[in-house]
Amino acid sequence: MAATTRPRILTGDTPTGTLHLGHWVGSVKRRVELQTTHECYFLIANMHAYTTRTRTAPDIRRDSLEIVRDYLAMGIDPVQAAIVLQSEVPAIAELTFLFAMLLPFNRVMRNPTLSEEIKIKGLGDQYSFGFPLYAVGQTADILAFRAVGVPVGEDQVPHLEMTREVARRFNQVFCGVSEHAEDGDHEKLGGVFPVPHADVGKVGRLVGIDGLNKMSKSLGNAIFIADSPKEVQKKIGKIFTGRQSPTEPGDTNNALFQYVDAFIHDASRVAELKDRYARGDNIGDGHIKVEIAEAVNALLEPMRERRKQYEGNDGAIVAIIKEGTARANTLAEETLRMAKDAASLGYFTRRIDFV
Ligand code: ATP
Ligand code: MG
Repeated sequence: MAATTRPRILTGDTPTGTLHLGHWVGSVKRRVELQTTHECYFLIANMHAYTTRTRTAPDIRRDSLEIVRDYLAMGIDPVQAAIVLQSEVPAIAELTFLFAMLLPFNRVMRNPTLSEEIKIKGLGDQYSFGFPLYAVGQTADILAFRAVGVPVGEDQVPHLEMTREVARRFNQVFCGVSEHAEDGDHEKLGGVFPVPHADVGKVGRLVGIDGLNKMSKSLGNAIFIADSPKEVQKKIGKIFTGRQSPTEPGDTNNALFQYVDAFIHDASRVAELKDRYARGDNIGDGHIKVEIAEAVNALLEPMRERRKQYEGNDGAIVAIIKEGTARANTLAEETLRMAKDAASLGYFTRRIDFV
């Protein structure tokens, strides 16, 4: 069970699909390490999936449960870490509304992660009002837990920067913290919120099998945690480098070698592959792909085994979420109370019965 004296971390995933290797290297591996030393909250950001999937809401529900299965498969322990369903934490929605008042509209629209998502997901100018609002919502996800660290991939750094701005501004506007205060001193100086930092994994941006975009659940370029060994081989076989022959000197900074670096752990083997590839020493892309697929399958095999225990048992998954969400609500309601008091919204106390 999480101890309250441990530093607190919050991170999460949107159920726009299920989890992939990018999630593992960018964030989940780090979460598995941190869960024994930190008080951890891992959020299924299901409301945020409605930004692009409103018309297929049953799929959001299905993927929310599948992501929890992925968490368990990857080694997240629901006793150590609370697995939380965003839509059942009302304090997050309330804080989103309040924080939206602290962020200039143009500041939100300038967020580069939003612009990138609009572009690569082909949203054009047809996205809902809720789409940019999700970035504000994410500041509330993090601050509702007064988290100090957020293990995320590189693409989330702009969201984290916005969260840091909201925390500072809230503390300055409502708690009298000086503009010149150091980020680390805000709580000590009477601020409600710590100014959190991004904790980016070893591989902050794993490229997808298209060799082009970030591996992403919604772009059809992902290798999923639940993929079979055959699917893994097939997908890795598709990584495109443009190299013509095994004797052509190759670029060891290409997509293929990002996978070599991320998944092959024998350093001398990695060095040898790079050396031969760079010289065009009769080593084809196909050969490298076979070695990558073996390494990825070795990583995923124990995950597949663990996942089997939870297949088909939605009741057990819902029970895990319910328990984690109850823990989350205790903390988030406390934060909301503190924030409301600070923002002159503290008229009377209220208690929601979270059963
Ligand atoms: P979507 O396509 O819906 O945006 P996604 O695949 O980007 O989905 P998110 O739920 O947005 O997944 O991200 C969850 C976490 O995983 C974030 O911390 C994000 O930075 C990290 N992450 C996602 N994809 C990658 C990747 N390819 N490399 C490293 N980290 C990643
Ligand atoms: Mg994303």
